[in-house]
Amino acid sequence: MNKKSQLFYRGRFAPSPTGKMHLGSLVTALASFIEARQNHGQWIIRIEDIDTERCHSIFVSHIIDTLNGYCLISDEDILYQSQRLDYYLESLTELKNKGLVYPCSCNRAQRQAFKSQDCPCLKDKNPSNQRLSWRLHIDTVSSQFRDVNQLCSTHLGIEERIIIYRNDGKVSYDLAVCVDDALQQINHVVRGADLFHHTFVQRFIQEQLGYPEPIYRHIPVVLDERGQKLSKQNLAKPIDCSFACLSAALQHLGIADPTIHFTNTLAGSINNIINHTHLFQLNA
Ligand code: GLU
Repeated sequence: MNKKSQLFYRGRFAPSPTGKMHLGSLVTALASFIEARQNHGQWIIRIEDIDTERCHSIFVSHIIDTLNGYCLISDEDILYQSQRLDYYLESLTELKNKGLVYPCSCNRAQRQAFKSQDCPCLKDKNPSNQRLSWRLHIDTVSSQFRDVNQLCSTHLGIEERIIIYRNDGKVSYDLAVCVDDALQQINHVVRGADLFHHTFVQRFIQEQLGYPEPIYRHIPVVLDERGQKLSKQNLAKPIDCSFACLSAALQHLGIADPTIHFTNTLAGSINNIINHTHLFQLNA
């Protein structure tokens, strides 16, 4: 990465098409878009469809059509993780070569049982021929990142020995995100606070692979009436392109009365928010 591109803001919106677009995804899309534009940056859409069993093309279409309806259009060709397995496998090889992952045959229940202890697979010098998963070999390390102007830090340990590569050939979300953010030169990540802890793990992976550190912004997730995060898994209500949804999303982002900025188009209204509020302007 050359110096110029390092200084230039590059952000992204990276939905997983496991369901239709809902209010929570609109909030994240808008937050990342507004932050990119208020900081004169680029905004790129990446479809995180690596889990082919849970992702469907009808959801991809709904997400992209809805984003188009709000004029949230990617500055570059949309990237699909399902087409990038080779890049992820290259990084997996690098992690293997560095001894940062180990083959593991534990199922979820076994892993739970060994939670805070070393997994017996670590001691197995001759792992069986069955297809094995690969786990992150992490001991106690500190991990930190910048969340806008705040430095966040924690200690990672045995609990974070997550699966990086599953025995059915699937690469983990955490590895794929690190690889793509680095290769796409993403230097600002705006996403839901539900991924806050993942960021520490991703920082660890980035450091091991020599990837640069983005600046993060975690935004509060939208909750349903039962206090649960709106998610595609919880069958959150799909949204359409309407001023009512735009207003609800912007209110969630802290604009008390967004409608005072509204024009007769959704795109014009979002533009006014970008130009007349300082919601996501970065001082750095
Ligand atoms: N694909 C993830 C999701 O839809 C978001 C990943 C990210 O922003 O890092 O929840």
